Amino acid sequence: MNWLQIARERQEELLAELQQLISIESVLDEEAASKEMPFGKGPLDALDFMLKRGEAAGMTVKNVDQMAGHIEMGQGQELLGILCHVDVVPVGDGWTYPPFEGRVVDGKLYGRGAIDDKGPTMAAWLAMKMVKDSGITLSKRVRMIIGTDEESGFRCVKRYFEKEEMPTIGFAPDADFPLINAEKGIAHLVFSLKNKPTSNEQLLSFIAGKRINMVPDFAEAKVATISQQTAANFQKFLQENGAEGSLTNEHNEYIITVKGKSAHAMEPEKGVNAAVLLAKFLTTELAGNGLAFAQFIVDVFGKDHYGTALQLNYYDEMSGETTLNPGMLKFDANGGTIEVSMRYAVTYSFEEKMTAAQQVLEKADFTMDIVSNSKPHYVSETDELVQTLVAVYQKYTNDFSQVLSTGGGTYARVLKKGVAFGMLFPGEADVAHQKDEFVEIENLVTAAAIYAEAIAKLAGE
Ligand SMILES: [Zn+2]
Repeated sequence: MNWLQIARERQEELLAELQQLISIESVLDEEAASKEMPFGKGPLDALDFMLKRGEAAGMTVKNVDQMAGHIEMGQGQELLGILCHVDVVPVGDGWTYPPFEGRVVDGKLYGRGAIDDKGPTMAAWLAMKMVKDSGITLSKRVRMIIGTDEESGFRCVKRYFEKEEMPTIGFAPDADFPLINAEKGIAHLVFSLKNKPTSNEQLLSFIAGKRINMVPDFAEAKVATISQQTAANFQKFLQENGAEGSLTNEHNEYIITVKGKSAHAMEPEKGVNAAVLLAKFLTTELAGNGLAFAQFIVDVFGKDHYGTALQLNYYDEMSGETTLNPGMLKFDANGGTIEVSMRYAVTYSFEEKMTAAQQVLEKADFTMDIVSNSKPHYVSETDELVQTLVAVYQKYTNDFSQVLSTGGGTYARVLKKGVAFGMLFPGEADVAHQKDEFVEIENLVTAAAIYAEAIAKLAGE
């Protein structure tokens, strides 16, 4: 079967359906949410659109509580799952082309969702139709599972898998080629200052970061008193660190701000944490609980990103270093807290490491609580699923890049045995969630061919 040729012949159909899907504004609308439309009208319309396409193609469809659904073909005991989502993040400003149109310019199709995840969904959808129309006999059922809340908490697939069967094997076209087989664990930790600030605390407040999964690019502290040298010290500090900041006086309070550089929590080394920077400066100026707060930030997060000071550091070959990102930090009259997104290696001994950290903390000014913990996700490189998918990918691309690991969570982690498979090709700019999001049409067609052959290989007789 020449899947690439068939995909080329059906390119118009692929683009037309993708444009229709992109024209549905499937952004979460919490205010319009009801039992009938749990994530608002757009996400539900997008799901309905897909299920109608499935029905029209003669496949079995199911809507699960208006949150998710599936399109299924083939027969057999085992189930191959293809996990996609049709919700998108808000558009934001600065688009050159209409975000909900799917305009084609110079071989690219522009629109919100073009690469995350409507384009890949449509490539996989065409692949399913291609396999069906080819007449190949399937010995497994093939099921596209469609979520409508991937971008804001996975409530769609959580509900879906409470009610529906877990696929035997699966892939999610919602990340990178060649394939991601290792995803770190993601824990949300909160460190809290043991002492309550006193009424005459020198540090009045400290605030940085809005989300734990981002490196804070701005931090601000309010201080009751400063010394005569503080202003000069601060200028010197900014210069030494190549940073920007300000020191002003308002209502008898000194306001000190520092700018950093934002980055995703899974790669804290790519950013500059404004909170750590500001804390570093404050340790030379403060006393009392404010000093304890700043000193802890510097000691634990200022020397490396690996949590070495708390013995949380751990590296393994398949997923790399364990990293900690202090993403939301706060100090005020009620206390001090540091919220951290920890991305830990696949073979991490979570319980043991947490116990060790608690022991270190016994002598420190802070306690630690685990708010949430999403376990690592891993399918061995030698597993048949990985081997098959990689071989198919290589055949169509002649690219022999290594399989990938990630510190971010992909959609595949909700599958018992699943990997992320495309459709961003190596070296391509990742424009997901950005203005002028686009997908290369040539890549869309290649991906459809790859997915078709993958389905045929994994589910065919
Ligand atoms: Zn996505």
